[in-house]
Amino acid sequence: MECAEAATALPGCVEGDLPEDVAAHLETCIHCQAEAVRYKRHARLMGTLADQYVEPPADLLESLLDSVIEDRKHRRSVRRKAAVGIGGLAIAAAGTAVGIVVHQRHKAATRGLVEIAGNVIDAIRPAGTSDLVAS
Ligand SMILES: [Zn+2]
Repeated sequence: MECAEAATALPGCVEGDLPEDVAAHLETCIHCQAEAVRYKRHARLMGTLADQYVEPPADLLESLLDSVIEDRKHRRSVRRKAAVGIGGLAIAAAGTAVGIVVHQRHKAATRGLVEIAGNVIDAIRPAGTSDLVAS
């Protein structure tokens, strides 16, 4: 058995629960023996931590509530800024659309005026003359 294969089952050594092939590897492999010693030491340390009670700081609740309130304020501010940004974009888009419509109407009106002017010129032009200016 390779160490990599044994490594997945090695934590079981803490509870004395190792498959036979891993146990056999452990008897002959100094690397895995060192790893098993580390698992057992960690388990012992974790066991001592379970008995300890850590007193929370007196201002923990107040501090947590303050941070929640600050977070909400920050989120509202970000949402407001995003709404203002989106509103600005909408206004810019509407302005662009209005500009395009005005431009199109101006172009159409200009085209119409040119056409009317052409018709007027055709109507008043003496018979037999052409559009071309004599050079
Ligand atoms: Zn090994």
